[in-house]
Amino acid sequence: MEDGKPVWAPHPTDGFQLGTIVDIGADSLTIEPLKQKGKTFLAPVNQVFPAEDDVNKHVEDNCSLMYLNEATLLNNIRVRYSKDKIYTFVANILIAVNPYYDIPKLYSSETIKQYRGRSLGTLPPHVYAIADKAYRDMKVLKMSQSIVVSGESGAGKTENTKFVLRYLTTSYGTGQDIDERIVEANPLLEAFGNAKTVRNNNSSRFGKFVEIHFNEKNAVVGGFVSHYLLEKSRICRQSPEERNYHIFYRLCAGASEDIRQKFHLGSPDTFRYLNRGCTRFFASKDTDKQILQNRKSPEHMKSGPLKDPLLDDHGDFNRMCVAMKKIGLDDTEKLDLFRVVAGVLHLGNVDFEEAGSTSGGCTIKNQSSQTLEHCAELLGLEEEDLRVSLTTRVMLTTAGGAKGTVIKVPLKVEQANNARDALAKAVYSRLFDHVVTRVNQCFPFDSSANFIGVLDIAGFEYFEHNSFEQFCINYCNEKLQQFFNERILKEEQELYQREGLGVNEVHYVDNQDCIDLVEGKLVGILDILDEENRLPQPSDQHFTDTVHSKHKDHFRLTVPRKSKLAVHRNVRDDEGFIVRHFAGAVCYETTKFVEKNNDALHMSLECLVSESKDRFIRDLFENSNNSKDMKQKAGKLSFISVGNKFKRILWIRVKSPGMVSVLDLMQGGFPSRAPFHELYNMYEKYMPPKLTRLDPRLFCKALFKALGLNENDYKFGLTKVFFRPGKVRLLQHLKTID
Ligand code: ATP
Ligand code: MG
Repeated sequence: MEDGKPVWAPHPTDGFQLGTIVDIGADSLTIEPLKQKGKTFLAPVNQVFPAEDDVNKHVEDNCSLMYLNEATLLNNIRVRYSKDKIYTFVANILIAVNPYYDIPKLYSSETIKQYRGRSLGTLPPHVYAIADKAYRDMKVLKMSQSIVVSGESGAGKTENTKFVLRYLTTSYGTGQDIDERIVEANPLLEAFGNAKTVRNNNSSRFGKFVEIHFNEKNAVVGGFVSHYLLEKSRICRQSPEERNYHIFYRLCAGASEDIRQKFHLGSPDTFRYLNRGCTRFFASKDTDKQILQNRKSPEHMKSGPLKDPLLDDHGDFNRMCVAMKKIGLDDTEKLDLFRVVAGVLHLGNVDFEEAGSTSGGCTIKNQSSQTLEHCAELLGLEEEDLRVSLTTRVMLTTAGGAKGTVIKVPLKVEQANNARDALAKAVYSRLFDHVVTRVNQCFPFDSSANFIGVLDIAGFEYFEHNSFEQFCINYCNEKLQQFFNERILKEEQELYQREGLGVNEVHYVDNQDCIDLVEGKLVGILDILDEENRLPQPSDQHFTDTVHSKHKDHFRLTVPRKSKLAVHRNVRDDEGFIVRHFAGAVCYETTKFVEKNNDALHMSLECLVSESKDRFIRDLFENSNNSKDMKQKAGKLSFISVGNKFKRILWIRVKSPGMVSVLDLMQGGFPSRAPFHELYNMYEKYMPPKLTRLDPRLFCKALFKALGLNENDYKFGLTKVFFRPGKVRLLQHLKTID
């Protein structure tokens, strides 16, 4: 940084501001902002960065900036964003900024055509360029490829995932039904697995890995979707200003009169599982100011109809039905889905009150209402069986060594509420599994040569109040970050070392300690939570205390500060912990962690639905349960850990060996490479015999000399030649590796 040259210095709200250095201290610099001459301030040396000469100029690849640092990268993206150029490369990685409106022609069919078969970097940055690269790599390397989409909630992961699917099916499909089905499966999956949150009106509450399969001729033959743990707690309870899964509102808003009557549907306000979220809505694109204004508005205090003005539930219902038709679901199947959704809503309305007797149990409140009857009817159960199963628990006694006798233990109101919610969660999540399975039947394939996978998970989240759901989602994102670290930095650097490239080592923050804190054996937060769940009387407080006592002085974990409010109300607010994630510190409130970690359903209830008169309901529960086994378990309230299930399922797919060059090294590195022998084979026929007698490494050296390539653009390793970002294009014929 030279005297008088502009620099980027920290700014409290804008991130960085332009200024010049007017004085240099031991570890801080005195900066004079360009916009406020004379108003100098101090900034730490390591937070001041050199600026480009022209800060209004932008480049398509951040690697072509004169100075690549956090500030110039952000500025480049900002300048581009202001011109509706939402995509920018950092070598082979694509950065996308959410524009929150439809940029004309950005995704048109003409644009799709343009990107077909074009090397990365020859056209403006675009998600289509990444999709095409994955396709060409798959074709040439004959290996499956994966695209990982990461970013915080609302960043645009799901939208970009859909653009990738549309691109690949349009460009490399066979023009048959299957292409359209792969795209049209999304509205259905989103209806059942997405919901409005405070960050995103269409937030994915499950992770998915979508594979598009190709045959030997590299044409689309089918698809496959794997899904990862749906957020179940949302089915019964939503945070203020959030909603349940879209399907519930859509069904209430869009169902025909006939269906409404059959399924006893009313307005969403009449259902407990829907009316405890919010009645006030704002778009994620609102400015903070607007949000604040909205918050102050008395409108949201009124209990109006539960309708989000920004979501068109009625229109979305119709669109969803069209999508269902296109993917081949007939009316019976559609009604099966709707019936279960309605059944869950009615189940949520079942209320309990203390029984007048001395049994200590409870009875169903307001017995004259038809709630229970409707629920039983929709789920194919006998009303009386459902009533008994919700208010009692079956236990086997083995008194006197005799064969077990079944006794019914009455449930307290709180226990019955939990049983009802557990049943609702079990039924809905089975329904979601079914939707995914059914979707997969829409694009079947006999055999496939390779696939391109796209991973789209729920993004990093932090709210004013964060609970177990955020904890799981952020842990998942932490793992993804680690994967990036490993792919981008560790593995690349190891390769450079092995090949003797002599590239400077790049330091990065390893987040392994944070992952250990969560998933470590016995002392990890998830294991501590499981341990708590197994105690006779588990409590959130005891769990929290254990976490703190096992991790005193852990760099990644701290106790939340006591807020004034909590002191005033005389409650403890240290019921929680702060985890320092790679993306920032998040304070988790541990109230309900224990409850949310337990996926168990009273076995007697599960038995009940698995023997439903309704074939569809029976099938939902059939696959994973052996009913004989279940009956034996009946009565026991077993514990099924949500957190650990999450841990197990999470990375099976991400470790897919097909995940090759998407995450190549960034600036300063050599993202493209080609083995000498490959180049030799490719160019042999063009070269005079004198050269072809050389060994492949020498041959390549001679070849590069002959082609007049600039020595700064590549480096020779032991077995491969490595190229600077974008430079492999210098070898026109090298379509294999760009
Ligand atoms: P989450 O982690 O919550 O699922 P996400 O990263 O998947 O978030 P999206 O659902 O893809 O976020 O995007 C949120 C919203 O932003 C979309 O519903 C859409 O309105 C808008 N959006 C995202 N990307 C684009 C785009 N490229 N063009 C126009 N609008 C977009
Ligand atoms: Mg999403």
